[in-house]
Amino acid sequence: MASNEAERFALVTGANRGIGFEIARGLASSGFRVLAGVRSKEKAVLAAEDFATAKVGAKVVPVVLDIANAASIPERLGEIERAHGPIDILVNNAAILIDAPGGFSASLFEMTDDIFRRTWEVNVLGPAATMRALVPGMIARGYGRVVNMSSLAGQLSGMGAGFPAYRVSKAALNALTRIAAAEAAATQADVKINACSPGWVRTDMGGRNAPRSPAKGAETAVWLATLDWGGANGGFFEDKVQQPW
Ligand code: NAP
Repeated sequence: MASNEAERFALVTGANRGIGFEIARGLASSGFRVLAGVRSKEKAVLAAEDFATAKVGAKVVPVVLDIANAASIPERLGEIERAHGPIDILVNNAAILIDAPGGFSASLFEMTDDIFRRTWEVNVLGPAATMRALVPGMIARGYGRVVNMSSLAGQLSGMGAGFPAYRVSKAALNALTRIAAAEAAATQADVKINACSPGWVRTDMGGRNAPRSPAKGAETAVWLATLDWGGANGGFFEDKVQQPW
C-alpha cells in the first residue's frame, strides 16, 4: 500500500454488527482508517469495544450516523469530515428488511405504504444522501471509491415475488449506482462507484441458516472499496465477479 493510501478515511454505514462490522474490520486490517457508522452514542461505545477485541481498535473510530433521516445527513457528514478529515471511501452498507406480513412470502398486494416508505428512507434515500454529500468532494480531490451494498434480490434480470419493499429498494440502489457512476466517469477524477451482493450471509438480516459467514460476505465490498486506478466503475459484483443487473 502506498503511504498516502494509509491516510485515507473510509466510512462504513451500519458498521456495528453483521457484514458492515466485517467490512470495517477488513478495511482497517488493510491499513485504512475507518469511520464506523452507528446509530447512537451507546452503540458507538459498544462498537469501539468490539473493534478493540477484533484487534483493529486503533484504526477504527465509531461515529454516530443514522441514515434514516436523509435531511440530516449532509450536516452530520460535514461535522464528521471537519472532525476527522475528508472521506475518500464510502461503503453504503446499512439497510433494513422489514417486509411483512410473511417475509419471503410477503405479497406486494398486501404491502403497506408505511413499510415501503420506511424501507425506501433507509435503503435508498440514505445512500443517495451520503453519495450526494461525499462524492462531489471525492471528484474535487480526484479520488474516491463508493460501494453500495445491494442484493441479488434487487436484480431486475432475476426479479421474482417476495420481499417487495426490499427488492424495490435494492433495484433503486442499483439504479442510483449506475447513475452516480456515469456522472463520476464523465469527470477526470479516479472515482469508482459500484454495487455488490454479499451472498446469503448469517446475520440478523440473513438468519441462522445462511451458508456464509459475515467475513465472507464482506470480501467483495472490501475489494471494491480498495480498487486500483484501472478497476471497475458502474458494475454489480458478487464474489468479485460481475453480475447482470
Ligand atoms: P444486519 O445484520 O441487519 O445489520 C444491519 C446494519 O445496518 C446494522 O448495523 C444496523 O444498525 C444498521 N442500520 C439499520 N438501519 C440503520 C439506520 N437507519 N442508520 C444507520 N444504520 C442502520 O444486516 P446485514 O445482513 O449485515 O446486511 C448488511 C447489508 O448487506 C445490507 O445492505 C443488506 O441489505 C445486504 N445484504 C445482506 C444479505 C444477507 O444475507 N445478510 C444478503 C444480501 C444483501 P443497528 O444495530 O443500529 O440496527
